[in-house]
Amino acid sequence: MADPFDRIYLDFNATAPVLPDVVQAVTNALGKTGNPSSIHRHGRLVRSLVDEAREHVAQLINADPTAITFTSGGTEANALAILGCLGSGAVTRVIGTTIEHPSVLAHVPERDQIGVTPEGIIDLEALEHALNASDRLALVCVMFANNETGVIQPIEAVSDIAHQHGSFVLCDAVQAPGKAALQADILGADFITLSGHKIGGPQGVGALVNVAGIEVSPVMTGGGQERRLRSGTENVPGIVGFGEAAKNINLHDEADSLRDLQSQFENALLEARPEAQIHGHAGPRLPNTTCVSLPGVSSQSQVIKLDLSGFSISAGSACSSGKVERSHVLEAMGVEQELLNSAIRISFGRQTRWDELDSFVAAWAAL
Ligand code: PLP
Repeated sequence: MADPFDRIYLDFNATAPVLPDVVQAVTNALGKTGNPSSIHRHGRLVRSLVDEAREHVAQLINADPTAITFTSGGTEANALAILGCLGSGAVTRVIGTTIEHPSVLAHVPERDQIGVTPEGIIDLEALEHALNASDRLALVCVMFANNETGVIQPIEAVSDIAHQHGSFVLCDAVQAPGKAALQADILGADFITLSGHKIGGPQGVGALVNVAGIEVSPVMTGGGQERRLRSGTENVPGIVGFGEAAKNINLHDEADSLRDLQSQFENALLEARPEAQIHGHAGPRLPNTTCVSLPGVSSQSQVIKLDLSGFSISAGSACSSGKVERSHVLEAMGVEQELLNSAIRISFGRQTRWDELDSFVAAWAAL
């Protein structure tokens, strides 16, 4: 029987394939008995695996390992930063761009949502204006790179503006590792969030990095794990796999070869269908993400037909309902209806070969 996974996978931003070293590390960890909070030898051994993973994740972004709190993923890490800052009183207001991931946007009142330019980049003047409008300290949430378009945000500038007002910055960097330089000290953000399954690790694990050591209240209380910030027995195999994936990232090799692949791919798309439009192409962008509209063919129809032809892609962000919904990101960029309704996202990674993208172009151009 044909293997259902023997297809061309171009949906890395939803979940990237688990790396072989990660499978090995997770398998080894599953074979170790013990609770990392136990003080006996079994517990201490398992604790050392968690600590080692913490070091690897910290090294990935040049952060202090003690700044890292492991969570169940990017969603929980975002929630912990936002609710934790509100809970501790560090801030009383949450500001964020209109293109944030729903796990952030859900916490940002409409009046405090900051618009983006047609290229998908935060309107810094609007941010300045919003911060000037009130003395309340805010958590300013701006993602490093958008999951649908790959557009990279000017986090250093955002941090400068927020800090001038005494406010803090949460940078959701879930989509960045391996594709863009991500150094905690250079970004200037006070919090950074990460997710294991976007970088070749397992699903269900992520991290909140409290770079500036701001007081954060726990959202879940109980056994007081993770320095009392995130109670619950640690997901040891997941954390170990996340650490292994972080260790495996070699930014320079990966980003450069992805960039070459992306420009060859986008040239081929536009050559095959000159009426197509690539969103956010003029600004800085992740080298693995292409969001393209094909006027006249709906997003849903493209996703389904390409699926039948053996290609797994998406129509924007992965939505839990499995439905194709209109992209709030493209809408925020002011993309016109026809293009909005015909956009798809192709995202790839270091395992992707040119011949896979080439055959995708042929199938897509024939739609
Ligand atoms: N933030 C961004 C930018 C994402 O793309 C995602 C996942 O798609 C998340 C947060 C949520 O991460 P997780 O799936 O680990 O909860």
